[in-house]
Formats: sequence, C-alpha cells, structure tokens
Amino acid sequence: MVEILPSVCPRCGKESVGLCNECRAAETTWFICDPRVESIYCPVCGSQKHGKTWSDTVVDRETLIQQLALSAVHLHADVRGSEIAISSRDPSPNRTVADMTVSGTLYGVPVSGECTTKIVWRKEQCDRCNRISGGYYEGIVQVRATGRRPSVRELEIATHIAEQTENVLQEGGDRLSFVSKIEETKDGLDVVVGSNPMGQVIASDIAGALGGRLTTHPKLVGEKDGKRLFRITFLVRLPRYQKGDVVVQKGRYLEVRQTGHGQLQAFDLQDGTVRFISEEEAERLVGNVGDAESALVAYLYDDIIGILDPKTQGAVECRAVPWLHPEEGGTVLVLRDTEAGQFVLVG
Ligand SMILES: [Zn+2]
Ligand SMILES: [Zn+2]
Repeated sequence: MVEILPSVCPRCGKESVGLCNECRAAETTWFICDPRVESIYCPVCGSQKHGKTWSDTVVDRETLIQQLALSAVHLHADVRGSEIAISSRDPSPNRTVADMTVSGTLYGVPVSGECTTKIVWRKEQCDRCNRISGGYYEGIVQVRATGRRPSVRELEIATHIAEQTENVLQEGGDRLSFVSKIEETKDGLDVVVGSNPMGQVIASDIAGALGGRLTTHPKLVGEKDGKRLFRITFLVRLPRYQKGDVVVQKGRYLEVRQTGHGQLQAFDLQDGTVRFISEEEAERLVGNVGDAESALVAYLYDDIIGILDPKTQGAVECRAVPWLHPEEGGTVLVLRDTEAGQFVLVG
C-alpha cells in the first residue's frame, strides 16, 4: 500500500504539498533590527572609529546615518529583492533615531515590516589628534642654506612641499603622517613631522626642488616596549647660490640658471653664453633677478642704452648686450650693483 500524503497545508488547509509558502513566510522571522548602534567619532577632526581602527570620514553625515542604520538590519538569507527606506531625526545632539521600512519577498511571498534603531554618537579623541595634542613627533626636517638664510621663495616652496606631502599621504589613508608644526627660524625652516617616512619624503622633495643636499641625523631618545626610539633630523642644505642670483666672476656678471653639486650653470650677462663654474669661482653676489627694477629706456645710441635710474630718474648709460633688444620708450630690467656703482641689465 502506498500512503498518499494529504495535499493540503496543515496550517491553513490551502492546497499544498506540506506547509504553504504564505504560512512558511508568516512563521519565519525574516529580519531583525538592533535597537541601538554606536558610532564613535573624533570631535576634533571628525574621524570615525570602526572596531579598533580609526579612519577619516569620507562620507557626509546623511550617508553615514544611512550606513549606520543599515548596519542594524539583519535579513534572513532567503529574503530576495530587499529594500529599506530610512527616515531619521535627531532628538538630541548625540542621538539620532532612524525609522526604517523593510520590504522584500520570502518564498515568493511579498513581506514588509518596520523597525527603529537608535544611533548613539560617542566622542573619543582619535589616534592622530591624540598624538598631535600630546606633542608627539618623530622627526624634524630642517631647511638651511650655505652662508645665507633661505630666501622667501625657497621657504615658500619648502612649506608648500611639506603641506602637499601631508595631504597626499593622508588622502592615501596614512593617518599618522601629519605635520605637527611648520616654523620659520632665524636660519631657515623647521618642519616637525609625525612620521619619519614622511619626513624622508618631504626632505628629499625639498632637496630635489631647490637643489639642496640631504643628510639624516638620527638621535636616540629612549626606549619603548624594548624598542629603541629615534628622532631623526633631516637636514636639507641649500646651495650658497640660488636660481636667478647674479654673481660676479672675473669682472663679468653671470646669472645663475641651475645649481647642484657645488656647480653653477651660469648665463653670461655680457655675451649671452652659458657655462659652468664652481660655487667657489663666484666672487660675490650682486642680487637676484627676482628683485630687478624696471627702468625706462630713454635713448639708444650705437652700443649704448640710455636708461633712467628708477629711483632718481637721472640718465644712466649701459653697454648694450647682444641678447637683449630694447626699444626707445620701452623698459628693461636692471639690478643695481651698489659695490661697482652701476646697473646690470638682466632682462
Ligand atoms: Zn498555509
Ligand atoms: Zn581626530
């Protein structure tokens, strides 16, 4: 004898082999919702803590609320095509309430339900702000120049490189690469860094951009958890002369075009040729073309350019140079060589 199973649902009596889909769906707890989720954030920089790790927030507050609310909802594995609509309100500064309508299908039966979760915002100082406020640092990038103070332009470039490097590393997720201080000192610039790899990058970029030489000087400052702790000074030594400097060599004026390894690539302001000399061969500094004054060309006569002294408006004669073709009534750029009591045409 073959026993014939009743072909009706034991719950509702509808025609079905075993429990029908509707009754099965009705008996299943198809979603649960945590009543409370916590979000830890840094009140100073807005970083978020997930588990034990901090990260910079990349989403706006609305998106964050959505993400947190969704994290409170747990769906049964058999739910298909789920949708969750969220509306939120802030009953107090550190509480947000998210009301959610959850819908989908379970065993082919449309289901929907509602739940509410409370988001608790908790403040905690993050790892980075903690280090910064505690004065933590690993190294110092020092920008100095040989026989002079770095120029305003050089200090600006160095500062810009430090700030850019910090931005790039932090955007790349390297949270603890921070610059804690950029300070002008009487001999140059000090950049205090939170991490030595970053100090290394900043220092070598500054040396590369300004033609300086980089040396590193580690100093043992103590021990922590059995590991020796070093502070590193990254010293960037800029050359004696910089781009645009006009120097005197054997009675000729030379404009420095490039520097590096104690060599100067120089433009001869008399004949317009370019050559290399060593730093030691430059006898004295006249000035920098960046500080040149604009002078009116009053007349041209043979190889003479008559200009008006920009300060006194008195007429001064300069020898014409083959690389510069001024016009009467136009202007030229000049540097004042106070020692020789004359003007140097630089552009
Ligand atoms: Zn049924
Ligand atoms: Zn922070």
